[in-house]
Amino acid sequence: MAALVCQDCTPTERIYLTYEGNFITSKAGCKVLLSQTIEQDGETSATLVDLAFDVSPFHPQGGVQPSDVGKITVERTGLELTVKKATFSFEMNVVTHHCSVATAVAAAPLDIQVGDTCTLDVDAETRALYSKYHTAGHLVDSAMFRLGYEFPPEKGYHFPDAPCVEYKGMVEADKRQELVGKLKEEFEVLVNEEIPTTICMRTKEECEVELNRTQKNFDFDMFKDPEVRIVGVANFKCPCGGTHVRSTKELSEFTVTGIKCKKGITKIKYDLKSK
Ligand SMILES: [Zn+2]
Repeated sequence: MAALVCQDCTPTERIYLTYEGNFITSKAGCKVLLSQTIEQDGETSATLVDLAFDVSPFHPQGGVQPSDVGKITVERTGLELTVKKATFSFEMNVVTHHCSVATAVAAAPLDIQVGDTCTLDVDAETRALYSKYHTAGHLVDSAMFRLGYEFPPEKGYHFPDAPCVEYKGMVEADKRQELVGKLKEEFEVLVNEEIPTTICMRTKEECEVELNRTQKNFDFDMFKDPEVRIVGVANFKCPCGGTHVRSTKELSEFTVTGIKCKKGITKIKYDLKSK
């Protein structure tokens, strides 16, 4: 699913990027910038449509967190579309909503005009689950830091199938299982401390001072914009574009589940306790 190419589009205002916007899952009056009917879905015969708006509450799929799903209602006609996935074009700064409409409902061609306004509804339950998985990854960062492991971050994967956080650095072989035990304990402590999440914008210079405390944990030169979105979970701050829960207390269902060290990389696995 490629993002729409829209030469004249203004950027999509991504609501979830601000602190309060992070918790908004419904927005009326979103104006259609581009509508493109793609094809019929071979399996379901549904009509597939890509839509871009001036503003959206949908979190598009990034490298570390799955896309929101939900529905879109065209306010002029009442037509409902199911949003299967949202993607983001960094070149255009536009969020593309990949939608489907049941053939029984869709007129051919679909009556969706540029300039139409729509109500965009993110599936709040799915968003809440993805926010928890994502924020729990940050909590591992904080727990690692508190235990003295100030490894630079390598990458994270916060999808429910195999969530983990990776760092540059190796833990000695005989310390690994002990570390998992300590991380489980520290994770519980941080949950019980009920630490509020923070989200703010900082210049790269401010980031260097505020975040790279003990060693160069983060490389801010990789960001093209002058300001970087900084998210603080359990008092540990890092650059991030995902969605989050309000407080560590919402992560009581999660724990650290394992460790793997290979080729200079330490991977810490975490998941729901119930899994
Ligand atoms: Zn994050």
